[in-house]
Amino acid sequence: MASRSEMQTLRSRLPAAVSGAIQGFGRCAVDFVYPRHCAVCQTALPESLTCRAEICDGCRRDLLSNAGVSCDRCGAPIGPYVDPARGCNFCVRQKFAFERVIRLGIYEDQLRQACLGAKGGRQQALAAGLAELQWERRVEAFRDTPIDVVVPVPHFWLQRLSRLHNPAETLAGVWAHNLKVRKSDHILVKAKWTKPQRSLPADRRRENVRKAFKVCRPEEIQGATVLLVDDIMTTGATAHEAARVLKQAGAERVITAVVARAMRN
Ligand SMILES: [Zn+2]
Ligand SMILES: [Zn+2]
Repeated sequence: MASRSEMQTLRSRLPAAVSGAIQGFGRCAVDFVYPRHCAVCQTALPESLTCRAEICDGCRRDLLSNAGVSCDRCGAPIGPYVDPARGCNFCVRQKFAFERVIRLGIYEDQLRQACLGAKGGRQQALAAGLAELQWERRVEAFRDTPIDVVVPVPHFWLQRLSRLHNPAETLAGVWAHNLKVRKSDHILVKAKWTKPQRSLPADRRRENVRKAFKVCRPEEIQGATVLLVDDIMTTGATAHEAARVLKQAGAERVITAVVARAMRN
């Protein structure tokens, strides 16, 4: 029999029509066998919880504790008197191929733990819970710009063999579903192995990922606005390079969405 986390994953991946029908039954068979549990701490959720993100109130508070206001260009936290659209001290000298960053919070404390947990091979439910929580909190930002296609930042094939799960694919699936647009896993591929970005100083990260990505089927993104999805962004070097090749291949605009913005290397 499938485990509870597998059932949660299955439920998070059901098409809207199917999940809607299931919800119509009230307590469906899945819920009867596996009552809903918080995707973060696994405590049972109250039946009255109506949010799509299956996360309890306590974890929700913890995960959102450092959300704050963010710079539109780079996702860094900014003070209350700074205009988010004008950039910030972190990005003022940076040029990015993407035009903005939509993020949930800062890569610290409980959100950091949740992001690390969501990288696990059987943790799609946690990644989906974080994606739904971000949707709840940042829905206006997602809807501000009409998106044509959602594209996850891919792993190199060797990395895919050693890791069962790319959280970017789960995040992209949830946001594409909520935006009612297509998610395309096949458009962007990682064509070469790169050193882990976290092992390099900030000034070497762009060079490390230079020409790491390739676009397949460029005809599918001609003139499109692409939502480029990853779980964590630090310097923005990876997202910049992926956005650069997407635009070179014909995309009109690239918006980046990440769960967490890391402020330290
Ligand atoms: Zn919880
Ligand atoms: Zn900034």
